[in-house]
Formats: sequence, structure tokens, C-alpha cells
Amino acid sequence: MVGLVVSVGEPPLVPAEQCRDVVMVLDDLPPMPESWLRMMRFASSYYQRPLGEVVMPALPPPLRKVAAYTGKRASGGPIARLERRRKKQSNAHAKEIECACSGSSESDTCPQLNHDQIAAVEQISAIQGHGVVLLRGVTGSGKTEVYLHAARKALDEGKQVLFLVPEINLTPQLESALRRRFSRGGSGAELAVLHSGLSDGERLESWLRAYSGEARVLLGTRMAVTVPMPDLGLIIVDEEHDASYKQQDGLRYSARDLAVWRGHDEGVPVVLGSATPSLESWNHALQGRYSEVVLNRRAREVALPVVRMVDTRRMRLEQGFSPQVLEAMEERLQQGEQVLVFINRRGYAPVLSCTSCGWVSQCSRCTAYTVLHRARTGLHRLQCHHCGGYARVPRACPDCGDQDLKPMGRGTQRIEEILAERFPDARIARIDADSTRIKGSAERLFAQVHSGEVDILVGTQMVAKGHDFANLGLVAVLNADSMLFAHDFRAPERLFAQLMQVSGRAGRHKEGGVVMLQTDYPDQPVYRALQKHDYPGFARYALDERRSLGLPPFAYQALLMAEGRELAQALEFLQAARGLPEQNSAAYTTHEHIMLYDPVPLRVVRVANVERAQLLVESQSRPALQRFLAQWSEDLFTLGREGRVRYSLEVDPFEI
Ligand code: ADP
Ligand code: ZN
Ligand code: ZN
Repeated sequence: MVGLVVSVGEPPLVPAEQCRDVVMVLDDLPPMPESWLRMMRFASSYYQRPLGEVVMPALPPPLRKVAAYTGKRASGGPIARLERRRKKQSNAHAKEIECACSGSSESDTCPQLNHDQIAAVEQISAIQGHGVVLLRGVTGSGKTEVYLHAARKALDEGKQVLFLVPEINLTPQLESALRRRFSRGGSGAELAVLHSGLSDGERLESWLRAYSGEARVLLGTRMAVTVPMPDLGLIIVDEEHDASYKQQDGLRYSARDLAVWRGHDEGVPVVLGSATPSLESWNHALQGRYSEVVLNRRAREVALPVVRMVDTRRMRLEQGFSPQVLEAMEERLQQGEQVLVFINRRGYAPVLSCTSCGWVSQCSRCTAYTVLHRARTGLHRLQCHHCGGYARVPRACPDCGDQDLKPMGRGTQRIEEILAERFPDARIARIDADSTRIKGSAERLFAQVHSGEVDILVGTQMVAKGHDFANLGLVAVLNADSMLFAHDFRAPERLFAQLMQVSGRAGRHKEGGVVMLQTDYPDQPVYRALQKHDYPGFARYALDERRSLGLPPFAYQALLMAEGRELAQALEFLQAARGLPEQNSAAYTTHEHIMLYDPVPLRVVRVANVERAQLLVESQSRPALQRFLAQWSEDLFTLGREGRVRYSLEVDPFEI
């Protein structure tokens, strides 16, 4: 096994007979910096995971493999090999760093900053040492330019910049903009990119280039937050509210929160950017812990789109579409504009049902309906979105034998089909997790939209992120209501962010952009705020609610999840976990400040034949919760060893 030595000379915590000798020192990698180890130690203690489970996944995969060091061809280990390969390739004549802004050839791609943007850059650059700036800018307000200029200033001072984004594959525009601005003579030497879509070798290379200081900008997804950078001078977290920053297994860390911690620890400014900040960050700004910078207008001097509610309560919909939306689509298409139909449900139909007895298609391994999908072959099949399992579509109802099985409801595939019939001349593209599964297909589809080869774009939230569609005039939102009444207390926040983001795709380059949202609840506060593009209004409403219910950001939470063959086992484990503090009250010094809720089954109890339950832990005080969890996780470890239950503990859970 490959391990990392974090200290020597201390007596080990485990009995001597359990200790293993170090067989071989892999000195390929220079010692990790002290600051890196501090961050690892913090993450380990904050997220309640053993240090080893924190440090190893933070290293690029090749450095974790024994074979990489001991293989026959191995001479000096993976890094030495990589270096040799790179020396051969390098075209030694690296030019000076150039900002395209200072050149004239590309001045059209580097716009003159407006007043608000200049003020924002100045405010960021004025920070001495650590400080967090919450950059709130409506969609299209030019946050990217602010990031780029702030980054430029840091680079000019000899610093490195860490630039975090939720998803790189979906936003190639950002990567190419960064490449244009921050690469030496186009060789890309200044910029390193890191995300899970890269090969292990590429990941190692990016990681090393940032670690060695050769790359001056590191653009990456959440995993990039732990890359050591010797001259770190600025951290940018774009779309800071995005759920992708939260890792959902292993070390369940929030890359945004770690970024803020790291900025503080290394004395470096952190910029959190969003059109719809998380309520946690917003609350920090209200309290004065973060400074707020606002970009209230679109950079292109184009007004924000008009958002219209289409009240569907007493309306006959045509295959899910209101007459108003169809008419507006017709109009836009005639004017040669593009239309985006947003529906957050992939597949053909959410469920297949029997018209005579009411049977609905269900997964045999999960407590969930199966979704009807059209495969590439054109045939339908049933897919479970929880376990990924497939089943054939039955010829007849398994319960009553009737052959009249009907799809119920509509997903992206069916919407695409309906639109193809309704608008036979329009070129339609669908962008969702299914149509973009193959590597490179998302880029290709987006390129088609950008180049005007697409008239109607049907998409899930994948289309909402970051894209600057020049010719998109209308956005039609179909099933927003289904997200309105989710169980999770963060559902309205997520819905609002998503709708703001997708609305922001309309009319970015030209006046007259319109968003039409079909709803049975036109008076919902979420929609009201959306109509006015009023984030502060929404945040005020949502924060009031959170405060009165004692929910985050006014409380701190942890979630214990247990899974077993039977629900009863999971519940029993959680019940025992709940009793631990009583049994050992002397060790739980902060117990009185902790609220332990009743164990409850998950909404989808069974997934892939495993049944799951959870227990929520809450406190008004973060330190009290931390102290409680430190003891609790130790006791859970002992408890977990006895039973047949797997469990995980998540600090600051994002979804409950
Ligand atoms: P955001 O990330 O805030 O949604 P972007 O950074 O994508 O917005 O900018 C939106 C559009 O405005 C982009 O096409 C960008 O090139 C353009 N833009 C940014 N700043 C300016 C400016 N100062 N003048 C003109 N156009 C600008
Ligand atoms: Zn039936
Ligand atoms: Zn399933």
C-alpha cells in the first residue's frame, strides 16, 4: 500500500504489533507543504474522517498506486516518468505572459470594463491578506470579466490563482477564455485544468504543474481546492451556491467552504461569485463577515428578460404546452430566434401505467417508479433513476393482462417528440444527461446551438449553466411546480437559483428576451421574486422562514445515514446511535446544546435492495456540534463494527 508519512517520532496510536514497516520510500514526490497538511488535518477533523481517508484521495491517482512505483519500467516513479515525457514534448520557447486585453487584435473579446466591473475589481484587489468578497451579479452582468481582471492583477504580482467552477465540461467558453488570456504563446503553460473528465496522467500533470508553480492559474472543479500551490494569491469560486461543490461520498466536503477556510489559513482573498448566492454566504454578507459587491445590470446594456407567469389552473394544455407558450414559440421561430424549453425531467415519461387497473411501472430493487426511456434503437425501455437498472417494457400489464399501457407525464424525450410534430420545420436539439453521455457530445451539442444550427433547444438544468447564447429570445419553463413542494428545506432556494439561471439565458445580446413559466401557483413567493429578478427579496423571505424554523444558516447540522438489508436494521442502528450520549454522558460535554431527531426512513427507502434511514443532528452552535461529533463518530465506529449496517456521517449536509 502507498501511504503518506505525516509525522515521525511520536509513539503510534495503535498497538505495536499492528504497525507495519515502511518498505520503501517513494521520494519521487517532494514533501507536501505544511499548509497542505494543515488543510488536510482541518478537513479530517471538521468532516469527521480519519486523516488517511482525507490525504490519499487528495493526491492524483497515479501517486496512489503501488504499481506506478514498482513496475518493471518504473525508473524513479510516476513523476520522473512524466517529467521525462514532458521534456521531450516541450517547445522550450515560452513567450512572456500576455493579456489579450492589452493587445488590439482581440479587443472585441476583451471588452472595456464598465463602472460596476471596475469597482468590483478594485474592491477585490484592495484586499490585504484574507477577506471574502461575495460578488453578486445578475446573469450576464459580466462576472467573468471581473474574475479575469482580478486574476490578472494577482498574476502581475507574481501570485497564483485558484479558479473553481462547478462543472468544466458544460462551460467550455470559460476555459477557452482563460486559455486565450492566460497562456504563454498559446502553449497553455500558464494554465492548468483539473477535473474528473481527465485521464489519470493528465490529472497528475495538471496537479504537478500547479504544485511546482509552473502553472499560474489552476482552473478546476471541487477536487482542485486541495491542490498545493506555492504562490497562491487569489481564490475564485464561481457559482458558489452550486450543489456540485459538495462531494456526495467519501469525504463529504464542501469545496466552497474549504476554499474559504484555505483563504483564511493562507492569508489569501476569496471571491465567491453568483447571481443567487447560497443563503449561508448571503447571511455572512449581511452580518458583515463577507463584503458584498454587486453587479446589478447586464454588461451588454441589454435589459433583463421579462418573466411572465402562465397561469395553468383553468387551462387546457396541449401535450403539456399552454396556447400562450406555443404561440410565443411560433413567433420567435419566425423571427429566426432560438427557443429554450426547460424541463427538469429526463427520459420519455416519468412512469408507464395501465389504463384499466392503475398498475405503474416500478423498480424491483428500489421503492421507486421506473422511467420510460427511448433508447438509441428507437425502442422504449424502463430505467430506474436510482439504481440505474433497466427493464424491458412489458407487452401487457403484469397485474391484469391489459395491453393498453400508457406513458404518464412528459420528460425531455417526449417533449422533443411533441415539438418535432408541432414544429416540423424547426431543428431541435435535446441536451440532458442521456444525450450527453458520450465524451464530447455535450460540447458538440452546445456548439451546434451557438452556431445557429438549432432552433429549439430542449434541456434540463444542464443548459442553464453559464452559457452565453447570443440568439436565444424565449425560455419556456414547463414543470417548475414539481420542484416547489419538495421535502428538502433547501428546495425553494435551489428552485429559485435554477430558475434565475435558466431565465438568464434569454435575450442576452438583444432586447426583448422573454421567460414564460407555466404554473398552477403564480403567487408563490419564489415566482414573485423571480418575476422581479429580486434576489434580495427572495433571500429576505427565505431567511425569515429559516430563522423562524431554526434552520441553517441559523443552525448547524449533521446527518447520520444508515443502510442495511432491511429498514429495521438501519433504524435500529440509528436508534442505538441516538442513545450513545446518554450512555456515556461524561464524554459528551456539549450534549445539552445538541438536538438529535428521530431516525426516519429515507423517502426512497430502498435503492438496489438496500434500505436506508437517517438521523438528523442539529445545534445552534457550530463548536458545540463539532465537539459532539468528535466523540460521537468515535463511538459510532465501535457501534458500527458490531452490526451489519453501513453508515456515513455527513457534516453540513446539503440535501436532507
Ligand atoms: P455572468 O457570468 O455574470 O453571467 P458573463 O461574464 O458571461 O456574465 O458576461 C455576459 C456577456 O457580457 C459576455 O458575452 C461578455 O463577453 C459580455 N461582457 C462582459 N463585460 C462586458 C463589458 N464591460 N462590456 C460589454 N460586454 C461585456
Ligand atoms: Zn392493469
Ligand atoms: Zn432501481
